[in-house]
Amino acid sequence: MLLTFKTVFHSQILCRSMSQATNKLSGKVAIVTASTEGIGFAIAERLASDGARVVVSSRRTGNVDRAVKELQEKGLTDIMGLQCNVSKEKDRINLVQETVAKYGGIDILVSNAAVNPAMGGILDCAEPVWDKIFDVNVKSAWQLTQLVAPHMQKAKKGSIIYVASIGGYHPLNLLGAYSLSKTCLLGLSKAVAQQLAPDNIRANCIAPGIVKTKFSSPLHGNEAVYEKMMESVPLGRMAEPSEMAGLVSFLASDDASYITGENFVAAGGMQSRL
Ligand code: NAP
Repeated sequence: MLLTFKTVFHSQILCRSMSQATNKLSGKVAIVTASTEGIGFAIAERLASDGARVVVSSRRTGNVDRAVKELQEKGLTDIMGLQCNVSKEKDRINLVQETVAKYGGIDILVSNAAVNPAMGGILDCAEPVWDKIFDVNVKSAWQLTQLVAPHMQKAKKGSIIYVASIGGYHPLNLLGAYSLSKTCLLGLSKAVAQQLAPDNIRANCIAPGIVKTKFSSPLHGNEAVYEKMMESVPLGRMAEPSEMAGLVSFLASDDASYITGENFVAAGGMQSRL
């Protein structure tokens, strides 16, 4: 009974997210990293539904092609797909150069890529794991910002959105280094916001709670683990990826024109005091 209710509720969310599509991003160009599935894909879909021209990317060309095809089949035709592993300089440069070559500029960067190669507490993290987590989750976000900023500065407008995590506020026991990397993004958005504000470029961050994706499958794949975890979620369920996408679209849009340097938690009421 409970599962039936949850299934109906989730399908209502999926239908609702598409019916809420607007034209508020018309004319804007958006790069979304790690956007061939999960939260990134939902963000790409929502930005495109709201009128943006969207560049979809991830490490594997096959995934990029599949995601672009899926979006096009939904009637979202102004989509470009590019292979980009955010931890590779050549890929980051290519992502930005190709976007500017095709669309003439960049209005929105959604830095969404993250990895967690191994579970464990903060003091149990092996150095190579630490380095990989910080390279992908933090350093690449900063490096991509460095690459898009000149284009936004030239246009005197732009919106940058980092995807952090509720773990950035409340470190999760088995995701020690990952959680800390997400805390860094909360600070990155504030630092970037300060430096780029004079050029009318905004930088904000979202911190999702538990969202139903492949990344979180160890949590929702096991009913006992899932039920235990839900005790800390007042709304009593995990989020659908589309429930993160509306917030990103708002922050990318002119509706958020006076909002910068802020971190937004979308975690079903989970505790989020830093
Ligand atoms: P996901 O469903 O597992 O999707 C991961 C995506 O990232 C795929 O498109 C993957 O495609 C791509 N990717 C992985 N490594 C990459 C790299 N180095 N460069 C470029 N693309 C890469 O993950 P998700 O749950 O949507 O997570 C997205 C973001 O939300 C992450 O920043 C994560 O930390 C954050 N988040 C997730 C949750 C949650 O509960 N799911 C909660 C809080 C925050 P390829 O394999 O083709 O590269």
